[in-house]
Amino acid sequence: MRGTTSLALAATLLLTATATARAGDILQLRDGRFVEGVPLEIDGDHIVLKYESVPVRIPLDRVEDYSIEGAEPPEAKTDEEREKRASGLVRFNRRWVTAKQRLALIKKKRDAHRAEMEDLRAHQEWRNRYRFSTKHFEFESTLPPSLNEKYSKLLEAYFAKFKKVWKTKVPKEWGKLKVCFYHDRDTFERTAGVSGGVQAYYRFVEPRELNFFYDVLAPDDTIGAMLHEANHYLTDLLSDDFQYPHWINEAMAEYWASARWDPDTKKWQIGGVQEGRLVELKSDLDKQEWYGLRYLLSNESNNYKHYYWGWSFVHFMLETKKYEKRFRDFFTALSRAKGVERKRGSNNFKRVSGEESLRLFLQRMKLKESDLPALEDEWRAYIDGQKSTGPRGLGKAGISAFRSNRRLRAKRLLGEAIAAGSDDVVVHLRYAQLLRADPGGLAESEKLLRRASELAPLTARVWAELGYTIYLQKRVEEGKKYVALAREMDPDDPYLLIEIHDALVEHAEERAKKKAGGE
Ligand SMILES: [Zn+2]
Repeated sequence: MRGTTSLALAATLLLTATATARAGDILQLRDGRFVEGVPLEIDGDHIVLKYESVPVRIPLDRVEDYSIEGAEPPEAKTDEEREKRASGLVRFNRRWVTAKQRLALIKKKRDAHRAEMEDLRAHQEWRNRYRFSTKHFEFESTLPPSLNEKYSKLLEAYFAKFKKVWKTKVPKEWGKLKVCFYHDRDTFERTAGVSGGVQAYYRFVEPRELNFFYDVLAPDDTIGAMLHEANHYLTDLLSDDFQYPHWINEAMAEYWASARWDPDTKKWQIGGVQEGRLVELKSDLDKQEWYGLRYLLSNESNNYKHYYWGWSFVHFMLETKKYEKRFRDFFTALSRAKGVERKRGSNNFKRVSGEESLRLFLQRMKLKESDLPALEDEWRAYIDGQKSTGPRGLGKAGISAFRSNRRLRAKRLLGEAIAAGSDDVVVHLRYAQLLRADPGGLAESEKLLRRASELAPLTARVWAELGYTIYLQKRVEEGKKYVALAREMDPDDPYLLIEIHDALVEHAEERAKKKAGGE
């Protein structure tokens, strides 16, 4: 599933390398991506992509197939292959064909892929975006059709599930919700006018809109962000002019963001543990910080801690049989029940005060305020019973801290994720970026980026970051080579063009020239 989703987008990056086709060599990776126009060479159990700046090595077990112009087909490895080879046949997928047929088949596959890519690329211009609608949504998208279909079906299924659980319907005058999909962060930021680490957003005032981008390095996060934001919209359907308190609004969105849909069985799995959130919580607990229950339930602030303390409490409530129904009742009562005091606030939304919210919680849960300490103890035991989640959770928590610019925490968590054996590219990338700012951190940063380049050898930005880190260590020529490699891989990436190359390398040259001129 992951492979096919990353295929179309990532391939667009790689195909740009064909602008200066230097060879008829073709490489197809197991994840579906093609590279062409880069001379290939076999070296033991690796294939070497001979980019002009720096050669890139990829283990053959990540390669689906390849063709090197003028060279023999891949060496026969099994007895069966050797036998067939003797009678002039080679393997292509599961068939046996002649070497000439094999080449023709690879080229045919490549041509079909190329045509598809050209079409995708044309639609990546916002003005040429795909537009289509489903039962509840109007989509505008620069994603490829396969992802449009996948995500639109996911959102419809999510809508149906939510409707069933909470008995919601769309107010007539709202119409269908507009959803914008962007194929990368740059297009998202440019078109939606957002910046600074935002993953997705829901515009909660008219005209309502859902916006998110596809993160090629972390497609699962794309889905998480989409379900979180979509949940805010669905929650708004409970009442068209009520705004939920921040703590429970974000907590519920995080609870639902972990939902996963199986398109084959058409079944949802709800209530999964948000590993990153759990790590963030345990990290507070390690520092003896506790977010008291009374404080949480009556909170009126927009504290970031609500994303994980709130998530944990909602998870505790909804995943504990004896509380689930009453807590759900409390949630709907906040916006719908009679006899609840709601006051108009900003954007003319109705809100409840912290104390009113607490009162309603106690009423619907059939508890007294004096019961709260016992409930709090039970919650604490529930948290203690949730196991630490290893490198994945640490990595997610670290990336989340990085996004919200809590650098110390990010550094600690990402370091722990790496020490626990994380093989996540983004974890390596972010940790390397943080270490770069440390005195003496550059060598470690370089090590991490070299590892990241093994994990994602065809991701231009990883090479650009490596080049920059090398460059900062005063190995200017070597650093420039890696930046040049990144540009060979992805000549259209504005980040590489502007931030890394022009701003750093070329300006440094200018500075050096000025300095030389002054001396
Ligand atoms: Zn949110």
